[in-house]
Amino acid sequence: ESLLEVLDASIPAGKPPHTAQPTPAYTPADLQLAIQHGELLNHYQPKVDLATGRVIGVEALVRWQHPQDGLVMPHHFVPMSEEHGLVGYLGVEVMREALRDLRRWLDAGHQLDMAVNVSLGSVSSLDYPDFLAEQAHAAGIPLHRLILEITESRLMDNPQVQLDVLTRLRLKQVKLSIDDFGTGYSGLAQLCDLPFDELKIDRGFVHGSSRNPALRAILDASLGLARELGLRTVAEGVETQEDWQLLQASGCDMAQGYFIAKPMPGSHMDDWLAAWEARRRMLVGETLSSG
Ligand code: C2E
Ligand code: MG
Ligand code: MG
Ligand code: MG
Repeated sequence: ESLLEVLDASIPAGKPPHTAQPTPAYTPADLQLAIQHGELLNHYQPKVDLATGRVIGVEALVRWQHPQDGLVMPHHFVPMSEEHGLVGYLGVEVMREALRDLRRWLDAGHQLDMAVNVSLGSVSSLDYPDFLAEQAHAAGIPLHRLILEITESRLMDNPQVQLDVLTRLRLKQVKLSIDDFGTGYSGLAQLCDLPFDELKIDRGFVHGSSRNPALRAILDASLGLARELGLRTVAEGVETQEDWQLLQASGCDMAQGYFIAKPMPGSHMDDWLAAWEARRRMLVGETLSSG
């Protein structure tokens, strides 16, 4: 019996009941084949400076172009890949494509940073910083252009190794971002000890917070904390102009969300960047002549 067969047997084959749009449960073997066949691809979502509207960078978000099921979103296979020790392979693929696409955009004159989601598995390996440095060097990408996003709720699983790995990454000029802030349970004191650069406020506290005093209080407290810790702030889930204006008035540094752009294939970025420039000038109240 191979390891993959054992892993297969441990996963229920049936589809979850009562779902309006049933999605197949994928097995580790499915995902391994998908990786071998090159079926994973990245979409990219822009991160924009709230004061100037300028595009600072993009976040890579993995998708699976499934031959039968179409475009499969990450929550159908990323958690499974983490549970079965495959997220390292997935991460290498996502990073490879992200580095290649970033090189293309830099060559075209777009000064962008690249944010990649990494699961804690990667960051718990002492080899990871050197491996990443080699991968980036081979792709011609300086490490200061890379941001690793790590979800807050997973941060404290193995603090010793992580502090070591995160510190090594930081010494190599890789930037580190706390993703989905507000959804986890990490002690604030521990957060101070970790070498992070950026805090991304979970979209649960962003969209609609102009109409909800409780959300607004959490948002303001998070922004205040980040300021005290010297972290730059990103609001995710900015869906409306109302959201955008509130975040801008609250002193948040950057915004990401459907109001700016949905995640898109890399091939759409050039056109989107051109279209955004026109919209940006209107949003920040510039005239074409002062631009
Ligand atoms: P995340 O890193 O917090 O990414 C943001 C998610 O929110 C994305 O979903 C994005 O499409 C969605 N989003 C962005 N703007 C808005 C908005 O205005 N409104 C709403 N309702 N949603 C918005 P997506 O692409 O389905 O990714 C979900 C999660 O999957 C990510 O959350 C991240 O934790 C994980 N993920 C994605 N790609 C990777 C990857 O390459 N590696 C790992 N380890 N995890 C990944
Ligand atoms: Mg993220
Ligand atoms: Mg997030
Ligand atoms: Mg999120």
